[in-house]
Amino acid sequence: EASLAGEEGGVTERTFMAIKYDAVQRGLISEIMGRMEKKGYKLVALKMVWPTEEFAGKHYHDLKERPFFGNLVKFMSSGPAVAMVWEGPGVIKMARTIIGATDPLKSNPGTIRGDLATSVGRNVIHGSDAYSTAEEEIALWFSPSEIHAWNRTNEDWISSNN
Ligand code: UDP
Ligand code: MG
Repeated sequence: EASLAGEEGGVTERTFMAIKYDAVQRGLISEIMGRMEKKGYKLVALKMVWPTEEFAGKHYHDLKERPFFGNLVKFMSSGPAVAMVWEGPGVIKMARTIIGATDPLKSNPGTIRGDLATSVGRNVIHGSDAYSTAEEEIALWFSPSEIHAWNRTNEDWISSNN
């Protein structure tokens, strides 16, 4: 039985992404979603979520000891995020490449953060950093019934092994 994150390295590999509230405020939702969509990845789950501080703390549990943790959970719970699951070949690693470095001033132009942000505390987007965190974060933000395994009619024009 495949997990919520699909098959690691397979065409059904899935990652969790969240458009943070700064990007929602700035009107960057479609700009950010469009980059994943145009790349050829498939959106299989989508909803707006206004996280509580407790929920934001769960999402960022591995950063609890960091000095910015308090401000981070306050920021994340200050308004709704756009929560998404994206599916496709190599999507976990590629989403991180498309996102860019954590600090937008160190992100290359052409990446989401490199093009759209200047501050680490307002870096517009989250993406799972590995298969294990993708699994964990998809399960935290979505129930299985909210994830849709729909078929694209133009799949042959997006993916081929030769
Ligand atoms: N963050 C911050 N200050 C820092 C480092 C991180 O405010 O010095 C925030 C930032 O929003 C970042 C999030 O904490 O996206 C999670 O940090 P992580 O190192 O996991 O970066 P990411 O995986 O988002 O690139
Ligand atoms: Mg991270």
